[in-house]
Amino acid sequence: MNTRVTALTDLDLESLPALLKRHGCPPSHARTLFRNFYDNSGSLDWQAIEVGARVRRLFDGEISQRQSTILRSHTSGDGTTKLLVGMANGGAVESVLMPSHRPDRAAGCVSSQLGCAMGCDFCASTKNGFERNLSAGEIVEQFLHLRATAASIGRRLTSLVFMGMGEPMLNLPEVIGAIRRIAHGQMGSLGWRQITVSTVGIVPGIDALAEANLNVHLALSLHAPDDETRAKLVPMNRRYPVALIVEAARRFQERTGRICTIEYCLIRDVNDTDDHARQLASLMSGFRAHVNVIPYNPIGLGLSGREYRRPSYERVIEFVDLLRDQGVVAHVRATRGDDVNAACGQLRQAQLVESPQSGGPPPRVAQASSL
Ligand code: SAH
Repeated sequence: MNTRVTALTDLDLESLPALLKRHGCPPSHARTLFRNFYDNSGSLDWQAIEVGARVRRLFDGEISQRQSTILRSHTSGDGTTKLLVGMANGGAVESVLMPSHRPDRAAGCVSSQLGCAMGCDFCASTKNGFERNLSAGEIVEQFLHLRATAASIGRRLTSLVFMGMGEPMLNLPEVIGAIRRIAHGQMGSLGWRQITVSTVGIVPGIDALAEANLNVHLALSLHAPDDETRAKLVPMNRRYPVALIVEAARRFQERTGRICTIEYCLIRDVNDTDDHARQLASLMSGFRAHVNVIPYNPIGLGLSGREYRRPSYERVIEFVDLLRDQGVVAHVRATRGDDVNAACGQLRQAQLVESPQSGGPPPRVAQASSL
């Protein structure tokens, strides 16, 4: 992308009016432009906007409507659609649309970084390491692609989770910038409570998100109740061990009044014993969080060379029942879209393996247009 061109998704209710003013246009047009752009899933319908020619001319040079394109789209048997979104500034990320049980609604999942530095052994996002942070606009555009995809199947995008590629807390300023645009009534209008930020457990990030006072939800990727098991799965546990991250999640819940979700990816013979369930229940005592048990979605070999397996369906149910017996609010989260590589990082991984640039940098938009 021409670096002098600013994407509309990288502008907000302060910077767009300022830009309009600099070019001798009425700053109040910012609201009209945003309203039209976001309502239209990210493209301006000039027929419906009453702004002068000078404003329109800005979109011939100074401002671009988009900085990303959908490179690939796959829909699985259960209706989950996975998008591979190519960024004009380089690289591609994944965004997922999951139809809800209500016939007219869908939930979306966006990435916050290109690649991931966290090195979680059971997660595909980490396999090619970390490349760069996404800008707020690049995150917003994933939301807009998902909104348009939902509309194309007669559904409304009504919630959004930051559970795609990357660690949102390590790109927090851009994530917060994106949330403000996505949630705000004069922009994306999704609403604050419809958004969940998922973290591997970066304590200062959890505190900063609470401090930002956005009214969003927090999900903590715990995956084990004890440091020994967790450190094998999640290297970041050495920096922020179980006790510290659960404490941070409790603080988040106290400060914001929002119920936290604890994500627990259940892996056969790794974190699925009765003992793990008991320890998890005692860790949760006095903490009104919801535990989401997600059966492991196979990704092949982890970074450590280990190959993990999903527990049997019966074992998943037993594990959840054990938690419930001890007073924990626990649910099984259905694994969605297995046949479209819907676990974190899997579609991009498949793309990197298939593409001629395999092992090299991720596909750039220009190269990928032949897909
Ligand atoms: N870095 C953030 C957000 C991305 S991961 C975090 O760690 O929360 C989003 C969720 O997907 C996490 O709970 C993660 O543990 C889970 N996940 C990743 N790979 C998975 C797999 N192969 N099977 C099931 N869940 C997986």
